[in-house]
Amino acid sequence: MMKKHNFYAGPSIMPQYTNEQVIEAIKDFAGTGLSIMEISHRSKEFVAVMDNAVSLVKELLDVPSGYSVIFLGGGASLQFTMVPMNLLEKKAAYVNTGEWAGKALKEAKLYGEAIEIASSKDKNFTYLPKNYTVPEDADYLHITTNNTIFGTELKHDLSVNVPLVADMSSDIFSRPVDVSKYSLIYGGAQKNLAPAGVTFVIIKDSIIGKVSRPIPTILNYKTHIEKESMFNTPPVLPVFAALKTLEWLKSKGGVKEMQKINEAKAKLLYDEIERNKLFTATVTDHEDRSLMNVCFVMSDNYKELEKEFAAYAKSQGMIGIEGHRSVGGFRASLYNALPYESVEALVKTMKDFEKSI
Ligand SMILES: *Cc1c(COP(=O)(O)O)cnc(C)c1O
Repeated sequence: MMKKHNFYAGPSIMPQYTNEQVIEAIKDFAGTGLSIMEISHRSKEFVAVMDNAVSLVKELLDVPSGYSVIFLGGGASLQFTMVPMNLLEKKAAYVNTGEWAGKALKEAKLYGEAIEIASSKDKNFTYLPKNYTVPEDADYLHITTNNTIFGTELKHDLSVNVPLVADMSSDIFSRPVDVSKYSLIYGGAQKNLAPAGVTFVIIKDSIIGKVSRPIPTILNYKTHIEKESMFNTPPVLPVFAALKTLEWLKSKGGVKEMQKINEAKAKLLYDEIERNKLFTATVTDHEDRSLMNVCFVMSDNYKELEKEFAAYAKSQGMIGIEGHRSVGGFRASLYNALPYESVEALVKTMKDFEKSI
């Protein structure tokens, strides 16, 4: 069978190490003679998995003291609700950089005055708004650091005068993050960490307990911090997979090293899009271009070749490069686990297709 190169945007490619370790743990977990799917989440073997996963997140992102790391269910989408429920008393500010940011804003409006302080909707979210003013009386500012669908990414940490909340679903662990600049970071695991089913939240302890509304126990961050992500049964298998990906990340030199590799992978592909007359990047400002999700379309004179290129790429083993339905064209996701060789293979496919025209 031809080698497959997995460019899916999410769920997406996992390190081979993670896949292999999960297979082992399903057969015989930590020498228990039982499958990880069949044992108590309160067993000492699983408690160690949870503890190690939390410690490794803290180590790899250099999380300062005064912050908790928790693993929850419900996906990043549940955080769209939990964030305002736990943090919004009067007013919250949102930067609208795409579909996910818009969904987060929609939920916040249920809990108070949630205002869109900047948006890039006017150009179908192909750039990041800059130079906006954050209201000083906002309970928090919400941003989406990587816009998975539209291929823009804020590649540095903002300094703002209100608590900063970030959806980092699709670029967490792709670069070093100065966690001290954020009050809360969250994300679904299925882009860069683990299979779907677990959500990570890194939260500054001092930010919780300030709103006056009653919060259902399971939706209260305090519950999960106090119970160390064991208030109810956590998603055991995805948490185990997350631990294995974190171990893999550490063995590769951590997030600093990942950033270097991610920059090299993205450069290789964007350079080819620039060079190749058949293709055009949808995000024109280099500063705003995502290292994780590279979006491109057929150039104006070659629009009719889209289906042909899609079919050719597929025949060459390129999987998951169709663009999101709201953007069209193509999107190649270059998450941590995607090898450099896969980007080389895609670039070769683009060159060969150009020659065949
Ligand atoms: C995928 C994604 C989400 C949604 O995640 P779910 O876990 O499916 O709820 C939210 N935000 C961003 C940036 C994403 O990429």
